[in-house]
Amino acid sequence: MHPFAYTRAFDTRDALDAARRGGRYLAGGTTLVDLMREGVERPDTLVDISNLPLDDIRATERGGLRIGALVTMAQAAAHPKVRTLYPVISQALELSASAQLRNMATIGGNIMQRTRCTYFRDVTAACNKRDLGSGCAARDGFNRSHALLGTSRTCVATHPSDVAVAFAALDASVHLLGPDDERVLGFADFLLPPGTTPQREQALLPGELITAVEIPALPRPLESGYLKVRDRQSYEFALTSAAVALHVRGGIIREAKVAAGGVGTVPWRLPAVEDHLIGERPSGALWEAAANKAADGARPLAHNTFKVELLKRTVERQLRTVGGHA
Ligand code: SF4
Repeated sequence: MHPFAYTRAFDTRDALDAARRGGRYLAGGTTLVDLMREGVERPDTLVDISNLPLDDIRATERGGLRIGALVTMAQAAAHPKVRTLYPVISQALELSASAQLRNMATIGGNIMQRTRCTYFRDVTAACNKRDLGSGCAARDGFNRSHALLGTSRTCVATHPSDVAVAFAALDASVHLLGPDDERVLGFADFLLPPGTTPQREQALLPGELITAVEIPALPRPLESGYLKVRDRQSYEFALTSAAVALHVRGGIIREAKVAAGGVGTVPWRLPAVEDHLIGERPSGALWEAAANKAADGARPLAHNTFKVELLKRTVERQLRTVGGHA
């Protein structure tokens, strides 16, 4: 492993100062330390931020919910407000990783995690995300798990997070603290599709620290849930997944929030599906017709064509589960 220095930050100012000197933030370490062992990440200095006071979950004055960046996945999944108000978040977290990892990994780290593309983690393979300009071994290699949506000539890797799919569906925002300022980014602006710069995965400025993820106030009642389809039932990444939230009043769908995972280079919101649902009465036929639009714009690779149909079926099944009329 590349030698590195280790320092611990005791407040956010400490952390920002250390980052300004080139340090990389370390929280649960469940992704970063793995990648350091594999030689993919080679930071010179780690700044341990696990003592910062960013580990609370609280209601906001605006009627939403703020989840601190250092709340662990397990804590967020078990929190009563998350479980009752946003089951889609709890379910996405509980279907992720393993119990041991969920006890260590944080919400901030989860949305920062890097792709599981095997070529990215193999330092002998060509990978634009790891080494811009070297090529993309996945394009002509084994790409069964790769993306259909949001791909570019440079990279076709999926974003691996489950809870990021739920956050995208719920219009969450990410709170950031920089050396000079605080700012808030919508989730859709926080994670970046590869374009011509696949090495840049988040819209973070140098040294910026994630402080929280905020779920906005949403209409009630809101039924929601997460479905993950994978090759085995635990400790596996999604082939496809669907986060669905529906607000039905007077028998009519007033709001529909639908996003997919395992298929996009970032969590993939499905506006065509949502548009098909809003203003309609829930029915089995409606779920099927809406889900048929889930793969609009998909560009399958040699080995992942099966995901087109799988995505439609995943979305349809989760619409039935959340919306009824199974
Ligand atoms: Fe690298 Fe992206 Fe290609 Fe995977 S898909 S090898 S991460 S450039």
